[in-house]
Amino acid sequence: MKYIFVTGGVVSSLGKGLAAASIGTLLEHRGLKTLMQKFDPYLNVDPGTMSPYQHGEVYVLDDGAETDLDLGHYERFTSGVLSRMNNLTSGQVFDSVIKKERRGEYLGKTVQFIPHVTDEIKSRMHKVTEDNPNVDVLITEIGGTVGDMEGLLFIEALRQFALEVGKDNVCFIHVTLLPFIKAAGEVKTKPTQQSVAKLRELGIQPDIIICRTEADLDEDNRRKIAMFCNVEKKNVVAFRDVAHTIYECPLDLRRDKIDRLVVDKLGLGHTPSPALEDWEYFVQRVIHPKHKVTIAVAGKYIELQDAYKSIYESLIHAGAQHDTKVQIVRVEAEAIEDHGARAVIGEVDGILVPGGFGDRGIEGKITAAKYARDNKIPYFGICLGMQIATIEYARNICGLAGANSTEFDKNTPHPVICLQEEQKGIHDLGATMRLGSCESILFAGTIAADLYGDVDRIHERHRHRYEVNSDYQDRLQEGGLVISSVSAHEGLVEIIELPNHPFYVGAQFHPEFQSKPNHPHPLFSGFVAAALKHAAEDGA
Ligand code: GLN
Repeated sequence: MKYIFVTGGVVSSLGKGLAAASIGTLLEHRGLKTLMQKFDPYLNVDPGTMSPYQHGEVYVLDDGAETDLDLGHYERFTSGVLSRMNNLTSGQVFDSVIKKERRGEYLGKTVQFIPHVTDEIKSRMHKVTEDNPNVDVLITEIGGTVGDMEGLLFIEALRQFALEVGKDNVCFIHVTLLPFIKAAGEVKTKPTQQSVAKLRELGIQPDIIICRTEADLDEDNRRKIAMFCNVEKKNVVAFRDVAHTIYECPLDLRRDKIDRLVVDKLGLGHTPSPALEDWEYFVQRVIHPKHKVTIAVAGKYIELQDAYKSIYESLIHAGAQHDTKVQIVRVEAEAIEDHGARAVIGEVDGILVPGGFGDRGIEGKITAAKYARDNKIPYFGICLGMQIATIEYARNICGLAGANSTEFDKNTPHPVICLQEEQKGIHDLGATMRLGSCESILFAGTIAADLYGDVDRIHERHRHRYEVNSDYQDRLQEGGLVISSVSAHEGLVEIIELPNHPFYVGAQFHPEFQSKPNHPHPLFSGFVAAALKHAAEDGA
């Protein structure tokens, strides 16, 4: 196996994850089997317990791991399906070291950062290598910025690891910022030089430097960076601000032939240049769509760029499929409580209520669901959004006044959404939800079955504690709510829908974790198609 390590310098939010994912795209399009992973230096065991304000979206894998949102980029930019082995945090590393110490596995030694903690990190690298014998290149992104104290042990572990597996098998890539100083009218290379110096102080000489830059990177600056960072000039690569979509990133990095540089360094130079037609086709569809729809996303963390990342991406994928630009209107659910649905979302072609926890904005979301149902506006409820639709239907159609989820009202007379027995005794919050992929049965003749096509079983990823209360299933169905899918083992409600409505679908799972650029998720695809129809009828 060959290894690529991607570190970051100068500042965070450089698009290091996207750079790493783009390298994955390019190598995969050269025919190499790649696998991607992230090391996060924070002490949380996983980001599952972190607030979206801290961390943005929690991305869930098939195996139920709650991971960093960069893993979402990796799965969207490459075909690899990742597992909990592909997101290592300091929390996991220390947890494991301390458990070993308690078991006496260190045989009386003093347990130290070096070698015991660094060994633990390296052993994870070796384990991933062993578990994936058919992978050609393992790409590892290191979270944080070089120079952060909390990242030091990871950097040291990588330095040692490179020696162990042989330097020819390893390519170090450092992503830095080239700030443009307006007053001087110049791009500055000093922060990059200093950040690389920091990395070299830690024993790592980068092979390639990726420079994030608003403008282009001229020859002079390339030469300067090469000279003072001790790399060849051709190995100084520009990573420019892309104009339209993040899916342009691989194409931008390709301009300086980053994939060529990487394969040359790793002795994989015999592979053909990347066949990117499918990727370019997708990007063109995103940039030059024929149609446009407006979709309101009514949530709780709406001002945050990253809280609903995978949902926004899935809408882009589905939009491209329908040659449509999806204009997203971010709506704070509480604004609907204050101003009413018509004032806030009266003009949109579709309403999406995403997942969420806690009761802030709940009544606003219920109002949005009712507005969509009454006015035949396409509605897509994801996880909490599906529970919201169920509560609304119970209250306003099935005559169950005061119906609610016990998450928001413990004493509701009609707990249409409630905890399953096995969730009731749980007190720890970390990794205790219903998590990961599970198999569900799809019922023929439903809108959902139509959208999924020729299958009667689906596998979707979950992240929630509450479920539709099975005691209320009959009453909801008698009231006209259609249950189009249930979990194969427990018979829990997975998808609901309404007939006689252009598109009113709720999914208890998270379809957004399985949408890809050229393979939009069928439910997103159906939702955008319905929104498009709504827009056309509106315009007629
Ligand atoms: N809060 C709800 C639950 O735990 C929904 C979770 C979600 O939307 N991810 O069931």
